[in-house]
Formats: sequence, C-alpha cells, structure tokens
Amino acid sequence: TKLKYDMTFDIDMIKKVYERYPERIAAARQIVGKPLTLSEKILYTHLWEGNATQAYERGNSYVDFAPDRVAMQDATAQMALLQFMQAGKTKVAVPSTAHADHLIQAKVGADKDLQEGINKNSEVFNFLSSVCDKYGIGFWKPGAGIIHQVVLENYAFPGGMMIGTDSHTVNAGGLGMVAIGVGGADAVDVMAGMAWELKMPKLIGVKLTGKMNGWTSAKDVILKVAGILTVKGGTGCIVEYFGEGAESLSATGKGTICNMGAEIGATTSTFGYDDSMRRYLAATGRQDVVDAADQIAEHLTGDAEVYANPEQYFDQLIEINLSELTPHLNGPFTPDLATPVAEFRAKAEANGWPLEVEWALIGSCTNSSYEDLSRAASIVEDAVAKGVKPKAILGINPGSEQVKFTAERDGFLDSFRKFENARIFTNACGPCIGQWDREGAEKGEKNSIIHSFNRNFAKRADGNPNTHAFVASPEMVAAVAISGRLDFNPITDTLTNQAGEQVKLDEPKGFELPEKGFAVDDNGYQAPSEDGSSVVVNVSPTSDRLQLLEEFPAWDGKNIEGAKVLIKAFGKCTTDHISMAGPWLKYRGHLDNISNNMLIGAVNAYNMETNKVKNELTGEYGEVPAVQRAYKAAGVPTIVVGDQNYGEGSSREHAAMEPRHLGVKAVLVKSFARIHETNLKKQGMLGITFANEADYDKIQEDDTVNFLDLDQFAPGKQLTLEFVHADGTKDIIMANHTYNDQQIDWFKAGSALNLIKQQEK
Ligand code: SF4
Repeated sequence: TKLKYDMTFDIDMIKKVYERYPERIAAARQIVGKPLTLSEKILYTHLWEGNATQAYERGNSYVDFAPDRVAMQDATAQMALLQFMQAGKTKVAVPSTAHADHLIQAKVGADKDLQEGINKNSEVFNFLSSVCDKYGIGFWKPGAGIIHQVVLENYAFPGGMMIGTDSHTVNAGGLGMVAIGVGGADAVDVMAGMAWELKMPKLIGVKLTGKMNGWTSAKDVILKVAGILTVKGGTGCIVEYFGEGAESLSATGKGTICNMGAEIGATTSTFGYDDSMRRYLAATGRQDVVDAADQIAEHLTGDAEVYANPEQYFDQLIEINLSELTPHLNGPFTPDLATPVAEFRAKAEANGWPLEVEWALIGSCTNSSYEDLSRAASIVEDAVAKGVKPKAILGINPGSEQVKFTAERDGFLDSFRKFENARIFTNACGPCIGQWDREGAEKGEKNSIIHSFNRNFAKRADGNPNTHAFVASPEMVAAVAISGRLDFNPITDTLTNQAGEQVKLDEPKGFELPEKGFAVDDNGYQAPSEDGSSVVVNVSPTSDRLQLLEEFPAWDGKNIEGAKVLIKAFGKCTTDHISMAGPWLKYRGHLDNISNNMLIGAVNAYNMETNKVKNELTGEYGEVPAVQRAYKAAGVPTIVVGDQNYGEGSSREHAAMEPRHLGVKAVLVKSFARIHETNLKKQGMLGITFANEADYDKIQEDDTVNFLDLDQFAPGKQLTLEFVHADGTKDIIMANHTYNDQQIDWFKAGSALNLIKQQEK
C-alpha cells in the first residue's frame, strides 16, 4: 500500500508551523529587543529549543534548528541515503523527497536521452526508488524535473525552513522560505529526527526600488548583485530582498534571484510573502497554503520599521533601482564577473574572449520556469516572423514535467522548434552539471557559449577548459542564439534577415503564469509505502556504482606526526576541483571509485599543473589520488593545503569524504566555504585555517608536518603545527578552527554518523 496521506505534501505540517508563529515571534521580539527582519522571524520560529530563550549573535553563535523538510537530488541522495541507512531508523522524521535529475545526459533530445539515462543509471534509480519507498520518502522519477523547480511547484511555502543536499536549495527563497544547501550528512541528521546546526547568519539587505522594463529580467538583479558582492561576499549571510521592486517580481523570478545567491556564497536568500507568491501558490494547486499563510501574513515578511530604516537592522545594505537596471552577461569562468550588455563588446575585445557563439542553452533550476520559457519563446517567435535565420544551436531543458507539459500545450515549445537547430532536452539538469555530450568538446578548442544557468566554472558544462561560458537571462540567451554573437545588444543593435533587411528584435513578452492554468499528465512522482519494512534495498557487492559504507575510524587521540603535504592547491579550489562532476557523477554512490577523482582539478602550487603531485616516498610525480593511495598504503599521514574560500561551489560531501576515505588527516587553508567546512567536520576530518594567511607561502613541497597540540583540541583554542623543511629548518604555524564541543566529538568519534550510531545504542 502506498501512503494514504502522503507526508511529503503535508499541509497539516505547514499549518502547525504557522500556528506556532505568533507565540514564537513574540518570544523572539522580546529577546532580540528590536524589530525583526523576515530572516530572523523564520530562524527564530524554527529553533530546536522552541521559544527563544536567548538572542543569538549573528556571525558567531551556533544554533540548533528544526527544519520543516528535506530535499535531495539523485547525485547527492545516493550518499545521503547510504548514510541514512546506517543510522538505524525505520522512517524519516520530517517530510523528505529525492529527485532524479542530475544523471541524465543531454545529447539528441528529450525522449531518447531520457531512455538512455534510465538505461545507464537503472541501478542507481532502482536503489533510490527502493530506499525512498522503504523509509517514507517521496521519489520524483527521472524526467519529473529539476529538484528546485519541483520543490517550488510542490513544497516550498512562505516562512518555512528547508534543507537540501544541493547548494541551489536556496531557490525556494522565491516562495519566502529559508532554504539552505547542506551536505548529505546534515540531511541525515534531520531525517533521523535530530537538530540541525548552523552558525547564526549575518544579514544583507537588498532594497529593490523601481520596476524592471524592456529586456531586463530577474536574472539581471542577481547578476548585478554577484558583481557587487563577488563569489565570497555573501558568505555566512542571508540575503533578504525587499522594497517595491521586490513586490513587482514574479515568484519564479524571485526564485532565480535566490537560486544564484549560492554563487555569492550566501547561506540563503529570501523574500517576504506577497501577492506574487499568492498567485504562484494558487496556480500550482496550493490555495490551502495561501489560506493558511494569509492568517499570519504580517509574520511572513520583515517588520515595517526594518524596511523603513534598513541600515539599522542589516549588517550590509545594497540598493538597486530596477528601473535603471540593464541586461548583464556574467563570466567567463566565474559568475561574479558582471558586464552590462552595452559594455560587453569592449571588454570582450580587451580580454580576447571569443565573440562567436555556437551553443546557447536555456534551462537549469535557475531559469526553467513557465515564465522563462514563454519570454524566451517570444524572442524566437519574433526573429522567425522577421525572417532572421538563427546562427547558434539553442538547447532547452524545461524545469519540470509540469512546465514542459504546459509549455507544450501553450505552443512555446513549438516556437522553439521553429528555430532551426533547437533541441528540447529532458526536464533535468543536463549541460548545467556537465551532463552534455557536446560534439567536438574533446578537441579543447577555445570557444564561447551562453546559458541561463548559475555556474560557469571552467569545464562545468562540456568538460572543455577552453569553453568560455557566460551567464545571462533566458531572453538574452535567446537573442544571442539568434545573432550568434555575444556582443549583440538587442536594445540597440539590428540583425540582417534573409531578405537582407535590417531588423530589430522586439522586447520580450511572456506570461508569469499560464492563463489556462498548469497541466500535467504524469508528473513523475512515486509515493512511498505506508509500511516500508518489507521493502528490500539491494546493493550488489560487485557494483561499481553503489557501495555500502563502512565506518571511518575514530581518532586515536594522538597528535598527527610525520605528515606529508599531498598538495598545496593554488588559487580557486571549488568542490568541482576537489571532486569533479561530469563523468564522475556515476560514482556518487561508490566512495572508493569516486575517490579516484580526488583533487584532480586542483592546481598544484609547486608546478602550477593539475593532477600532478610529488610522491615524497619515491620522489616521483603522479596523479593526486594515486599518490595519496600510496601514502595510505605506507601508513604515512598527509595534509592538504588550500587558498581562499576553499571548497566553494556545491554541497557535495564527496569532496570531504574522499580525502577522509583515502587517509588525508587535515585540510589547512586560508579560508573555507561554509558548506564544505561543515562537511569536513561531519566526516571527522580536521578542517583548519591559517591564523596568518601569509604562512601559506612558507609551506614547501618537501615539508614534514607535525601537529604539536592536537591532543588538547578544544573550542576556540588555536592549533600549533610544525613544518620541518627539507634543509632541516622549521616554521611554526598557528591554525584557527571553528569546532565547538559537539563537532570535536564528531572528530573524536570519526564522524558525526559514528556519533549518531553510538547514541542510538
Ligand atoms: Fe541541476 Fe544545475 Fe540546478 Fe545544480 S545548478 S540543481 S546541476 S540545474
């Protein structure tokens, strides 16, 4: 039997959250002693302890929260659920869903690609389907859509708190949630009914004035914000958008803005409850949520005094006038390199960026809504009507089956099909996560692409390090696809049509929501069994895709001595550099196999090459995973050294589990990205930072490292490391850490999961 009442669509849970709001807000108001931002309201109503008993210091206090729900995508769900299976529970404690969206490659088009994806990944999909069935988790099958679009359409609700095993979980801020990307280990805690810990975020306010017009899109708001704040500027912060401009944006437009909050390192982003959310909730079949939310609407947005004098209540304030905002192209290689379209040509020429575009892509969780497709389709329709022959290939990944089905019914997909060389791909991540079989990419030629995705790190889309990827709104992507040039400015430039005439493209037109309502035939959802005890989850011991986990060993209580420096990573080292995606995605459920990609994308500071490090035991250079396996086999401890914002990018805990599995003892960096730092802690790894960043330069390739006082590991106490150089001289380097008592217990137990199991016994 399937669940009679499917907990994953739990309106009763939402009502319970709302019922407690007035009392908890009153308690928070009294404790905090001043008007509250929306972010604070959501945080304080989700305290694990119940009503607030103390004011938490932003940027400093660790706080236990009780999130309302959990979402997982297929690539990260494998490891999360393998870990959950170890926790000894029979059902998840909060509504949870898993979404099969990352593993389907884009090649020829939706139908064939989807079938091919299912054939290739059936073992993993069957595993996810059966684990979900067993433990009460809703499963969205391959082709159902991209996790964050599906969550926005079905689960997100104003004032709620959610965690998800994907950094773009933050997308749900578009419906007024505090939704945060975490590692699988955090999801396991919450699904196992435990508290979830987060450092109380600082708050950045973004006041939006004016109203967008013409070619400007919600995407341009976040492209502009990324340019202002950079990839590190949001670290440790919630970005709260408000003002008349915020109210003028659609809910999915708000989702786009919140989605790319991940690109500025923000913990999450959110918007206050407003009419756009009411419209979206009602259109997606959730009038009951609107009715419930309306009863406490005053609590689902920041206090009027906060928005009247925001400089007094936010740690940082940004103001953007939407009336003056123009379209942007961000990139290449980093999402914060923001250029207004009007300035693009000069900048591209100065930097030698290729201007011709072969591929333009619309989709990803960031920009694949009905509104996005309708606005991009209007551009294509206009170009076709004006006799313009499009130059580039246009690929489209709709965000969900519901979006695709409705867009098909309303003729937008046909509009794209009129575009010579358009390819409608599966409702899945596809090229956004390197799942793109792009013909010729292996040649490594220098080229440019444009897409409406969020990330544009080197190699991310097609694996070619010389592909310059630029991020823009779907409508700008469509315009560039038609012109074939990145420097095409549709506001001022004309195109030559097939009759040789100069024509100008009309401004985009679209629909916030379908006039005839959303429709879908089969949304691809699988409800879990009411009693999953008899459901068998099979993992073959010979599988190369899935591997049951073994416990990481507990700390032996001793100082680490005689360690070698496996690699000193130079510059940007994202989770893509530490645990590459693309072809490696298929090993996300097999720790030993995926460990063969450990740090292969990181640049070795000693030779400026990737995947080439010195094996101090032999003096020879080898690939990072192979050298680390050799150290492990010889019983030699190692450390990894890194630069600023180490581990930025995604929530994948593989980037923490792989070094742990292969025997790396510590990661010492100038600074960490938040999610990765937490992931290291969860896996029982030592993640520490230079007290003096300049000490990074003192570390030499042949050094031997001794920890002098790890045996006195305690909160707030620096660690002392001795680096013995090849010539016998030494440097003493002090390291900071952010471990609290509980996190030190994780370290001692070998991992957070080890500790959960010990406590279960
Ligand atoms: Fe999928 Fe790309 Fe969104 Fe990640 S960012 S969930 S890979 S579409």
